[in-house]
Amino acid sequence: MSGPVAGGPAASGPAGAGSAPTTSGHYIGGRWREGVAGATFASHNPAHVDEVLGHFAAGDADDVDAAVRAAKEAFPGWARTPMPERADILLRAGRLLAERKEALSRLMTREMGKVLTEARGDVQEGIDMTLFMAGQGRRPTGETVPSELRRKRCFTERVPIGIVGCITPWNFPLAIPTWKLMPALLAGNAIVFKPAEDTPLLAVRLVEILIEAGLPPGVLNLVTGTGEQAGAALVRHPEVAAISFTGSADVGRSIAAACGGAGKRVSLELGGKNAMVVLADGDLELAVDGALWGAFGTSGQRCTATSRLVVERGAVDAFTERLVARVTTLRLGDGLDPATDVGPIINERQLRRIHGYTEAGQGERARLLAGGAIATEGTLAEGTFYQPTIFADVRPTMRIAQEEIFGPTVSILPVEDFEEAVTVANGTRYGLSLAVYTRDLHKAMEAVDRLESGIVYVNAPTIGAEIQLPFGGTKGTGNGHREAGTTAMDEFTEWKTVYIDYSGRLQRAQIDTHQGG
Ligand code: NAD
Repeated sequence: MSGPVAGGPAASGPAGAGSAPTTSGHYIGGRWREGVAGATFASHNPAHVDEVLGHFAAGDADDVDAAVRAAKEAFPGWARTPMPERADILLRAGRLLAERKEALSRLMTREMGKVLTEARGDVQEGIDMTLFMAGQGRRPTGETVPSELRRKRCFTERVPIGIVGCITPWNFPLAIPTWKLMPALLAGNAIVFKPAEDTPLLAVRLVEILIEAGLPPGVLNLVTGTGEQAGAALVRHPEVAAISFTGSADVGRSIAAACGGAGKRVSLELGGKNAMVVLADGDLELAVDGALWGAFGTSGQRCTATSRLVVERGAVDAFTERLVARVTTLRLGDGLDPATDVGPIINERQLRRIHGYTEAGQGERARLLAGGAIATEGTLAEGTFYQPTIFADVRPTMRIAQEEIFGPTVSILPVEDFEEAVTVANGTRYGLSLAVYTRDLHKAMEAVDRLESGIVYVNAPTIGAEIQLPFGGTKGTGNGHREAGTTAMDEFTEWKTVYIDYSGRLQRAQIDTHQGG
């Protein structure tokens, strides 16, 4: 094995197109090493599936156990390191990410498929999060609170949880890991990181940057491999105090059950069935621009992707006509080609799943207006591509209106008025991101009040979160946690409450202060 496994500074080869495949092991206790069982798996370019980007160690319970032991050893020293010192390491990591932005973006397009401009956005989000968390390192971490007793001081402080398992999906291969790793590290936790099996190379690159930035051995450990083996072992491990998971709803629920049984803390960021409400008084051109970006950006593979267009009857014909006209001009292709609008689907399994939803929509008699097929013309046959797909006359009870598709498929649901629009938009098990297009301030504010989701947009599509604000969803999308922003620290810390009595005598709260009362 070459690259990280050989103990070298970094993986072999530059990250640009055409570089040789890398071979990477796990990163445990400050060194790269092969998995205990020696098994490996490959990462492919979804635009040209024959292109292999690298081979990676397929981790199992033994590898996870080794990583947890390393984290346990490193935790006390890291927890005692002053927070500004921890933040300095993040600052250096943020600078390294910025220096390597273009190479990382190109690598992301090759490993995950999203078009280069979006890959640059993903890396930028990672830079923003890393630098934001570096800045948080000198903020107050608690409150001084008055005591009811004399000569007594009370304050609170945040303390790390311990060993945190971070499990991430493939659709934001750099940004989402930074959302978890950076606040967890800043807070003083030791980490075992299990990235998605479709994008392990980006995870290796991120870990290399954190090592180069000066992270001490054992503080961050990487175990690559499948969810069923490496991920499940991490969730089950008794020494892991908390799991931070972003991924599908089904897996999230099984992880929550396992963590609940073990009394383990768990934060979940799951799927969405996001809707854009378009009212008849809205700016239709703007709404069409938003729908195109929200539904087909990242080939619809975003947790916040616009999957439903809830359109007031008075606007539905004009809106639909314009949207269909624009969709037919979108070009599918390799995301490194500047002419490409829509890149590939991550893998064959997801491609089949998306097509299954087209069949379900047709079976339920929704009207297919565009797309609806696996794209195989010319070089598209080398990858996993799906035509941008629009269904009209969709009813709220149809599967395509209820279940997360996670692909370039959008449904138009006509509604009579604002009231019905709100009911339909709220009418799924998810609550991640909802949007409303209107020029009427009253209706905009009513929508803000009544839309049941963690994120609401007015006159903007359902995608476009900024890292300095809380991110997450209500209902089936999560379990009440919010990542990003200053709320990220809630996910990765415990509160400690401290009372200091310097009166030199026993003072009894509630009793001494209310004698005879
Ligand atoms: P996934 O649930 O299949 O996998 C996510 C991660 O969990 C991967 O690392 C995977 O290996 C791991 N995993 C799978 N089974 C596991 C198990 N039994 N135990 C432990 N770990 C396991 O999801 P995906 O296909 O990678 O990502 C797509 C999903 O992620 C979509 O549903 C999408 O909506 C969701 N997502 C949500 C957000 C959000 O913030 N709400 C963001 C991005 C993606």
